[in-house]
Amino acid sequence: MTHSPIVPIVVAVDGPAGSGKSSVSKEVARRLGFGFLDTGAAYRALAWHAAASGVDTNDAASVISCLDSFDYGIGTDPEGYAVRVGDVDVTAAIRDPAISAIVSRVARVPEVRAHLIELFRGIMAAEPRPGIVVEGRDITTVVSPDAPVRILLTAKEDVRIARRAAELVGDSAQAAGEQLHRRDQADSKVVDFMTAAEGVTTVDSTELDFGQTVEAVIDVIRAVQPEAVR
Ligand code: C5P
Repeated sequence: MTHSPIVPIVVAVDGPAGSGKSSVSKEVARRLGFGFLDTGAAYRALAWHAAASGVDTNDAASVISCLDSFDYGIGTDPEGYAVRVGDVDVTAAIRDPAISAIVSRVARVPEVRAHLIELFRGIMAAEPRPGIVVEGRDITTVVSPDAPVRILLTAKEDVRIARRAAELVGDSAQAAGEQLHRRDQADSKVVDFMTAAEGVTTVDSTELDFGQTVEAVIDVIRAVQPEAVR
């Protein structure tokens, strides 16, 4: 007798920069015993790889030529999150402002998106835990439009900038705010993550702290998949 594989419950979370998507999604995954996939990390890792290979990221053809040599690794354990390109651990390097400044150029290339979307679907299908929280910009609409739980996590821009800036000091805080604004503008030309698609539940964290936002997301999951939240 053959058993069909158990399909993990996908919780799709989209939202703009600084909405708290990553930290909230990771905590939700921890609480539910689910896996966690940060899709932005793959775009960042490809931007890092292109920069490390001396490629001009303004040129789409050059970016595409990097895909063949892009050996990318990411785990889905919310406790032991690490990102690898080849033999190099790039977990910290991909958060550098220099990478944030160029990542949108890489992400706007359709061939790049098609390649990474296949990679994400493979990782999701192979998830050994009962579910996986996947966060990014186009998860609810393109990567997993049939996910049983689809959430748009938003917050007003000034609040998102203030949260980002609180992690930094001085001039770099202002620069981080400007960069967040520029990045959202560039990214929203490629995918719309500012308005919820049909069937997507908006969680607005403008007035919520971290713990309340985690609870709000878990409430949405509970409403759709009560057995996933014990
Ligand atoms: O989520 P994070 O801010 O780390 O994403 C980095 C960049 O990756 C975004 O600015 C965007 O250009 C790209 N991205 C994307 N689609 C996703 C996730 C991220 O285009 N699903």
